[in-house]
Amino acid sequence: MKIETIAVHAGHTIDPATGAVSTPIHLSTTFEREVDGSYAHGFMYTRNDNPNRRALEQGISTVEGGAAAAAFGSGTAAAMALFQALAPGDHVLAHVDAYYGTSRLLREIFLRWGLEADFIDMSDLEAVEKALRPKTKLAWAETPSNPLLKIVDLAAIARTVHDAGALCVCDNTWAPILQRPFDLGADLILHSTTKYFGGHCDVAGGMIVAKTDDEFFQRVRRIQYSGGAVPSPFDCWLVLRGMRTLPWRMRAHSENAMKVSSFLAQHQHIERVHYPGLHTHPGHKLATQQMSMYGGMLSFEVKGGRDAAMAAAAKTKIFVRATSLGGVESLIEHRASIEGPGTTSPEGLLRASIGLENADDLIEDLDQALRL
Ligand code: PLP
Repeated sequence: MKIETIAVHAGHTIDPATGAVSTPIHLSTTFEREVDGSYAHGFMYTRNDNPNRRALEQGISTVEGGAAAAAFGSGTAAAMALFQALAPGDHVLAHVDAYYGTSRLLREIFLRWGLEADFIDMSDLEAVEKALRPKTKLAWAETPSNPLLKIVDLAAIARTVHDAGALCVCDNTWAPILQRPFDLGADLILHSTTKYFGGHCDVAGGMIVAKTDDEFFQRVRRIQYSGGAVPSPFDCWLVLRGMRTLPWRMRAHSENAMKVSSFLAQHQHIERVHYPGLHTHPGHKLATQQMSMYGGMLSFEVKGGRDAAMAAAAKTKIFVRATSLGGVESLIEHRASIEGPGTTSPEGLLRASIGLENADDLIEDLDQALRL
């Protein structure tokens, strides 16, 4: 089956009790035990597992081509579980342009727990090779990266990291469907399902998908149900509903972002556009090899720095000034001020999540906002 068909049907069954086509939401926190002490339907208590969470995990695992998946209350909770599955003294290699919340987790929480971490530019393979240590257990690749849209060679990173005996995680939040990390060698995929999977800016969630249901993933599973950072049944239902239209939405996000980035690239007030679909992007060739389309995220640097960027963002009428991404509405944000002290985002940079409005309207909106 093709991905559009898989996305519509994965994780869905007609409800045997009622014939309902849309999966019912099971709010019950506890499940009845048989007289012999067993659980006939395999559910005992909702923190451990529940029907909506299981359906979502099966659904996303199928879409990504994995063996198993574990759902969390946010993408960050999913990242926490991965780091918690490591042991003190283990070394993590992370992309310098990874989502700042993930870097912050490592720096502020896990270094104190005894994990060691290095942040390097993973688009530079030599830098990756040099940074690997005997104690490296996990390499965190993120591509396209946030907010500079750098492209990491997933296949090469996975090969290099495997040679050193470590696992390769890909944060695939920005390019679901468009990029198949397991085919490229990744062992684990992380999603903030708050973004494209949910797709409507109305639910938070995270997911870890494992290529093999091995001992490491079982540790993640135990952290999921013992730690309890799990999504509610309704949250799971919303994300699974979002997934049904995901392939079509990703196509439309990508088409719109291509048009908007081409417009920005020739604009007199724009210094630089970061979008892997543009021929001028340093990762364009690689992105063309490992992605089917280039995604809905882009960033651009406004001439005149922070004040000019803020002024342009203040004038948009369709783009909503808000953080996050992956919803149907276009969002724009001044990344450096969102990230705060320690940010590496250029001061003139605006990041945009290109939504599903008509691209001509988005271009017109940016055009009037950039009349500085
Ligand atoms: N990974 C990426 C690439 C993200 O962009 C984000 C959030 O913006 C996260 C992880 C964290 O996800 P959440 O906000 O659901 O915790």
